[in-house]
Amino acid sequence: MTFDELNLLPAVVQAVREKGYENPTPIQAQAIPVVMEGKDVIGSAQTGTGKTAAFTLPLLSRLEKHSDKCPRALILEPTRELAGQVDDQLVFYGKHQDLTKCLIYGGVKYGAQLKALEEGADVVVATPGRLIDHIEQGNIDLSNLEILVLDEVDRMLDMGFIDQVTQIVRKCPKERQTLFFSATMADKILSLADWVLNDPVRVKIESNSKTADTVDHAIFPVDGIQKYDLLLAMLEKFDYNSVLVFTRTKMDADRVTRWLLDHDHKVATMHADRSQSERREALQGFKEGKYEILVATDIASRGLDISGVTHVINYNVPQNCEDYVHRIGRTGRAATEGEAFTLYSTDELAFLDAIERFIEKKIPRRKLEGFRYRTEPDLRVPGTAIARKKRNRGFNSKPGGFRR
Ligand code: AMP
Repeated sequence: MTFDELNLLPAVVQAVREKGYENPTPIQAQAIPVVMEGKDVIGSAQTGTGKTAAFTLPLLSRLEKHSDKCPRALILEPTRELAGQVDDQLVFYGKHQDLTKCLIYGGVKYGAQLKALEEGADVVVATPGRLIDHIEQGNIDLSNLEILVLDEVDRMLDMGFIDQVTQIVRKCPKERQTLFFSATMADKILSLADWVLNDPVRVKIESNSKTADTVDHAIFPVDGIQKYDLLLAMLEKFDYNSVLVFTRTKMDADRVTRWLLDHDHKVATMHADRSQSERREALQGFKEGKYEILVATDIASRGLDISGVTHVINYNVPQNCEDYVHRIGRTGRAATEGEAFTLYSTDELAFLDAIERFIEKKIPRRKLEGFRYRTEPDLRVPGTAIARKKRNRGFNSKPGGFRR
């Protein structure tokens, strides 16, 4: 299949061609025709599957050109970084159209956002908190909205945005097209989908594994006290281009950063206690190669599109199984090869066990040759069969707990 067959606006196809994409990815091939027909969509797909273009390309095609009835499309994202990234893609794919856009997120002054809203933005990309502020101050009127996109819904709910999201949806007209994307589909997410969507088409990219096939991942058992040294030894040994190191806490992120800086690595840090400008500088510097290592908490694990990440190193085993999948999904994007390694000490057994159950496979154990381990690492993979709990995840299986 080619992009010409998807009924997209020629101006959009031209931008896609300039971007260098040859063929639509599976989620694009499935979702774009449905969105172009004006239907609601509920989509789940692995990270790095081309989901952003799957909704931005048809959205731009349907809006076509500027209208005074602004805003006509709203895209909700959980974090400022994701919102910025989606906005970047909109700017690129929409470069041959005269649509106007506005990016709304917290942690910055209101001035520029207010001005863009006053001038009339066809498409608004926003994080929920700041958008609510604008709604309450009467700066934005959603009554002409045609398309609502709720992206990374599971993440939005994890971050406690459920009330804001429902409040925003209530401000949108009932007659609209809604596109709903979530990496996971727990009951509370399906219940929200049930309320928000109208006879949706389900788009799902089936995969044998929840983890990207292009990622080689492994566990490196080590005494907790030697984790700093092992991390350093790995960085010396690996032929890396850029490395994302994930830590469980903000304090760990700061400590690991300091340790790596002391050993002459070019490192940036990203976590919730850093200011917006510090986060932007860290991400930008990492993308541009100024920093070869980015140490981050899970704020960076979902959806961030950083190309060329060759290695993900989990300094701790993530406590949340889904975070494991998202973290290692930061490498191996769009079918490029990547490696994802997790430093593991025995006190983290329960977390590792939960992850292996969740991804329904055992992760190979490895040791770093040449590293002086205090105690010989145990490389045996526990042999117990994993009980596969198949839950009924059928859409509509739960009546909605919300009312429009
Ligand atoms: P996403 O899942 O939207 O974060 O996209 C993951 C990566 O795939 C991004 O770097 C996109 O630029 C890239 N991508 C999206 N669509 C295509 C396509 N049709 N062909 C090649 N790469 C793509």
